[in-house]
Amino acid sequence: MAALGQRFRDSLQDGRTVWLDGEKVENVSQHPAFQGTLQTLTALFATLEDNVLREHVGFRSPVTGEYVHNAFLVPASLEDLQRRTAAFACWTKKTHGVMSRLSEYARSLVTGWYAARERYQVFDPQFAEKIVRYYEQARDQHRFVTTALLDPQIDRSKGPSEQKDPDAVLRIVRKTEDGVVLRGAKMIATAGPYTHDFLVYPFHRIADGDLAHAHMMIVPANTPGLHIICRESFAADRREVYPLSSRYEEMDAVLLFDDALVPWERVFLHDNPQAVWQLRMDETANGLAYHTTVVRLLAKLEFVAGVAFAVAEAIGADHHLHVQEKLGELVIQLETVKALLIASEAGGKADVYGTFVPDPTPIETARNLGPRYYPRAIEILQQIGAGGFMQVPSNGERLQAELGGLLQKYYRGAKIDAEGRIALFKLAWDLIGSPLGSRHELYERFYLGDPVRTYAAQYQNCDKERLQSRLRDFWNLAAGKEAKEYDSKSAVSL
Ligand SMILES: Cc1cc2nc3c(=O)[nH]c(=O)nc-3n(C[C@H](O)[C@H](O)[C@H](O)COP(=O)(O)OP(=O)(O)OC[C@H]3O[C@@H](n4cnc5c(N)ncnc54)[C@H](O)[C@@H]3O)c2cc1C
Repeated sequence: MAALGQRFRDSLQDGRTVWLDGEKVENVSQHPAFQGTLQTLTALFATLEDNVLREHVGFRSPVTGEYVHNAFLVPASLEDLQRRTAAFACWTKKTHGVMSRLSEYARSLVTGWYAARERYQVFDPQFAEKIVRYYEQARDQHRFVTTALLDPQIDRSKGPSEQKDPDAVLRIVRKTEDGVVLRGAKMIATAGPYTHDFLVYPFHRIADGDLAHAHMMIVPANTPGLHIICRESFAADRREVYPLSSRYEEMDAVLLFDDALVPWERVFLHDNPQAVWQLRMDETANGLAYHTTVVRLLAKLEFVAGVAFAVAEAIGADHHLHVQEKLGELVIQLETVKALLIASEAGGKADVYGTFVPDPTPIETARNLGPRYYPRAIEILQQIGAGGFMQVPSNGERLQAELGGLLQKYYRGAKIDAEGRIALFKLAWDLIGSPLGSRHELYERFYLGDPVRTYAAQYQNCDKERLQSRLRDFWNLAAGKEAKEYDSKSAVSL
């Protein structure tokens, strides 16, 4: 049998309709815009075939006996949860946290819904059977999965059913014996052109009574009538100039459903706002999926901090106290996220179905810090490198040519030669200034939702009574009514 990475590439020739620069992409696996990314993914798939790494990244499928990714592992204990962490850490470290859609997030949602399938039987007696079938198929066929949840950004002052054009928002226009016919669009499906399946459901709560927009489906990428529309490609072919863009460009796409038929076996919920919202907020699925994003955030912050340290040292800026203060801030960022990750695992609990789910509060906190930490980390990198990011020739190889001697002299750093300094500053530029770098800042600000609403949700969901009881204690103290008998446990716990 061919290697897993090659099988993955071959599987993309499945009749999908991908559009880039106004043209149909005949073969995604051969198109230059996807080469660097597919090479990276091929190397990641190879970890499941490596005699040592596969023990950390995967487990043997009970059906095929092949190693499959730990994103499909239903954790029954803290040790299992940490096995999942190890797998995510391995893949994300190999991509320096820069690739965010390695499929673990969406696969973890599937794993969570599979583990908690009994919850949805009340809404649809076939839910359990369908999700078991899909979970096993996705696990054993190593299916690459991503999400497409938002309605297109047309008029955000109106809900789905209030839009002027009813076709603007994805809806079921017809039901047939074979399945449902979908019309409308979804944004943004990162990794869309090279994914196998899209998890499609509404990100925001659908009003009671708005049945047409309340559905959850897992749509194969090669569904006839489904158009995958790519944004401009940020992929670069010159690795020495754009070391990240040439390897890790995750294409973002919009999905257009032009009366696309999705078979019933891939329609999990329909015409039910309450059921769809419950699934969207599922504690098991979200617990497992959100956990993956914190592992990745940590790896990315560590990478940016490493680059910032190297830039500061290369030009002797690390000598200055205010630069050290900024570098210290980066350390505080990553140590905070690391502590929250550890806390979420240590505070994890088995849910009613026996799935060991991380504590959601530290996870939510870490996720909410990302949209503030990452842009700040990039700002610090800019503040340290300053004009040095422009003191880079367009082509490193020219150091050996006519002006080589002069360039060697003026492009070096305090503790680094010209070659090293140029390579380092080009790498840093790919984080802070290239189209890929700008896309990443936007990604970290928004990928988990609108930060205004995710912050507000942290307030809405917190234990307000616990905090307000501190105030009551104070008023009691002030009024001379301090409790005579202590509850010793609450008196000494935080
Ligand atoms: C690079 C990138 C990759 C992404 N990848 C994926 C992916 O793979 N899968 C996926 O499903 N999604 C993905 N997303 C989408 C992401 O989930 C959304 O960007 C995010 O939820 C914010 O929604 P929006 O972009 O529609 O912003 P909007 O909701 O349009 O917000 C625009 C502005 O209006 C304000 N606003 C709008 N409505 C309200 C309201 N009701 N109340 C208060 N303020 C409001 C917002 O605060 C914001 O300032 C991606 C986004 C980015 C940027």
